[in-house]
Amino acid sequence: MGIPILRTVAELRSIVAVWRRDGLKVAVVPTMGALHEGHLSLVRAALAKADRVIVTLFVNPKQFNSPADLIAYPRTEYDDAVKLAPLGAHILYAPDAADVYPQGFATTVSVSAVSEGLCGAFRPGHFDGVATVVTKLFLQTGADMAFFGEKDFQQLHVVRRLVRDLDIPIDIIASPTVREDDGLAMSSRNARLSAAERSAAPRLAEILFETARRLDRDHCIDRVLVEARQAILAAGFSQVEYLDLRADEDVAIIAAPNRPARLLVAAWLGQTRLIDNVEVWSPRGRVEGFVEAAAAA
Ligand code: AMP
Repeated sequence: MGIPILRTVAELRSIVAVWRRDGLKVAVVPTMGALHEGHLSLVRAALAKADRVIVTLFVNPKQFNSPADLIAYPRTEYDDAVKLAPLGAHILYAPDAADVYPQGFATTVSVSAVSEGLCGAFRPGHFDGVATVVTKLFLQTGADMAFFGEKDFQQLHVVRRLVRDLDIPIDIIASPTVREDDGLAMSSRNARLSAAERSAAPRLAEILFETARRLDRDHCIDRVLVEARQAILAAGFSQVEYLDLRADEDVAIIAAPNRPARLLVAAWLGQTRLIDNVEVWSPRGRVEGFVEAAAAA
């Protein structure tokens, strides 16, 4: 059986009201579609914890800072529904932009500090768009828990912050980054890579993992990061927007190996912007990408 696709908040709320009356726990997995194993891992994690799972599919215009990027973003709703049905997700909620942002829409949710720097510095307005739509989706679904990927690490922290600040009664649950067999972090944007770019792309993750290992023993952070940047450029990337070490718990700037950290990167390969991150100085030890891909397969 296929997955029901809902377009309006009224339909969504009437179904969720019945679930609530029956005492069921509801999870939401927000996505922009073009689903891959990374998204599906979130859906599986949600199904393992909740009684009912709503996957949202909305290519949110407010979080695109480039009109060309919005137009080029893949839209594959039929294929997405086909991928979700066998997993047992209960609803695909795919509202129209005109319903999410009707005429006269005037509200922006803006999370300071954690939205600044990293992607926030290079994509003006991006995290305001994310925070606004995620707030709407939380209020529309009334879910008890929401699942997000560590792949978008800064986004995860923006969402955690806004839920805390606005007292939204929802648990934010993070899942690790799912990678291709060669280590490349899965992303809907990977489909845009040419064959030559696709074969260069895994170097980004390799360099991140190499750099994280190096930071275990070499604490001259600035020098290690400069050399890692050079390695990314030498691998064929045209620009490194940022390569930064931040605190794992709140993405605060970190200058010494005194707490668990994340090494985060955004770099351009041809016309495609790739982001990735890995753990550094984690008390749990690091999950290397290639192990991760095998586990997800
Ligand atoms: P998107 O459709 O790109 O907005 O992503 C929707 C959700 O899927 C976000 O919480 C992302 O962090 C998550 N996600 C995207 N790629 C991956 C991945 N490779 N592994 C795990 N989660 C991911």
